[in-house]
Amino acid sequence: MSELREIHHFIGGRWTPSKAGETVEAVSPATGKVLASIAEGEREDARLAIAAARKGHEALAALSRWDRARMCARIADEIDKRRDRLAKTLAEEQGKPLHTEAYGEIDAAASGFREAGELIKWMEGEFIPVETPGKRVISYRQPRGVYAVVTPWNFPINIPVEYLAPCLAAGNGTVWVPAPSTAICAAELMACIVEADLPPGAINLVFGPGPVVGDEIVGNAGTDGIGFTGSPQTGAAIANRGAGKPMLLELGGNGPVMVLDDADLDRAADAAAFGCFFNAGQVCAASGRILATRKTHEALADRLRGIAEGHVVGDPLATGTTMGPLNNAAVAAKIDEHIADGLKSGARLVTGGKRLPDLGSPLFYAPTVIDNVAPDAALNTAETFGPVAPIVVCESEEDMIRVANAGSHGLAASVFTKDLAKAFLFSEAIQAGLVNVNSPTCYWELHIPFGGASGKNSGLGRIGGKHTLREVTEIKTITFDIN
Ligand code: NAD
Repeated sequence: MSELREIHHFIGGRWTPSKAGETVEAVSPATGKVLASIAEGEREDARLAIAAARKGHEALAALSRWDRARMCARIADEIDKRRDRLAKTLAEEQGKPLHTEAYGEIDAAASGFREAGELIKWMEGEFIPVETPGKRVISYRQPRGVYAVVTPWNFPINIPVEYLAPCLAAGNGTVWVPAPSTAICAAELMACIVEADLPPGAINLVFGPGPVVGDEIVGNAGTDGIGFTGSPQTGAAIANRGAGKPMLLELGGNGPVMVLDDADLDRAADAAAFGCFFNAGQVCAASGRILATRKTHEALADRLRGIAEGHVVGDPLATGTTMGPLNNAAVAAKIDEHIADGLKSGARLVTGGKRLPDLGSPLFYAPTVIDNVAPDAALNTAETFGPVAPIVVCESEEDMIRVANAGSHGLAASVFTKDLAKAFLFSEAIQAGLVNVNSPTCYWELHIPFGGASGKNSGLGRIGGKHTLREVTEIKTITFDIN
């Protein structure tokens, strides 16, 4: 499909070049090779998309939920049909390994459309008894209008679906701004959506810099709601620009894995390693730090070293590769800084700790394990977003709760213990939206409520299944006087 080599916006039902005619190149993080030329949008392109989405919303909202569910199912079928192509694009442009990770993300995206279509059909309203005779009161959910959706590059197919599918199912028009470094993935997903013959303008895709086109769609009075996944810094900027609009913000994490002394250490190490190294650590629900006591930290470090050194880092398309390159230079630079800071404050490098440029790009990073990280080091206090397993030694199990809650994030956490009472105690004490007992921080399924704890910088609202549908709809109450 030639349009994917020269990729345009999708506005009002058509692939559309930028008004100003500007383009940028998309490059492979593994080889630096140019993969496509992408339309570079400006505010005017975003405004055209908003105008189209207003019409798209009206047409969608006039359809029945069953009609929209059928559209969702058609998109899911199209994703299934193009599974190989989508997975290959994802591996090539984002960098995740094709055989061990990319297919899973594509399958999740298809399920996301199917589930949103099914769930909207069964979302019921209320008949509300009232005191006044002769009154009848009902309430039910309606679409909010036009959604501004801004998404990151780490799961560039599935995270957009977490918003696009429920918005479509509920009858909202959407303007979507994807991360620039995974624009081809966005276009490939849009090509699946196109096959479902949605009303023109129902879903629009605009490429370009977040601070320009993303800023326009969240701030413009023509959008009625915001769905954003990305960093806390951008989330704060968006919250300001879109002040007053309903918003779902899915922000950063720095998930603690708390390994209590009675834990099965093999199981804890396997799960922590998965949480640290999956998608090369570029996961909001990644295991950002491992908290252990003096009794267990060395044994954990040893097990983690074995797993880290067993990873095959390299070409994301090759069979056998288990970790591809990082997606972009900024994320690699932050990992360098965090590791240097950790070592400076006295931590012990167990394995890794360096880039692997001989593999063909400066974005390949060795899976890293660092023990004895100081609680005030950036590896413990900030989100690293890379393939790093930092172990922080805590004075006691109780001390783990203090260390876990001291950070500014509160998204996902894990507790490893065989003691049910402790499992509950720790789960309830940890400030995180999701706590996984005896499984990785990043265990999640599409319908499970997911989001940041209050008082932390991890976001607002809950995504997942019916929870997203609630967020992207609002309650309409209608009273009847039958006297
Ligand atoms: P980012 O905030 O830099 O960018 C995210 C998106 O926002 C991109 O599309 C970008 O172009 C756009 N953007 C940037 N500035 C903008 C502005 N001023 N106005 C509007 N849009 C703007 O984040 P990133 O580096 O792409 O993603 C990594 C971050 O995302 C990490 O912090 C990670 O934890 C978080 N994340 C969270 C979740 C979750 O579900 N909570 C999931 C994945 C990633």
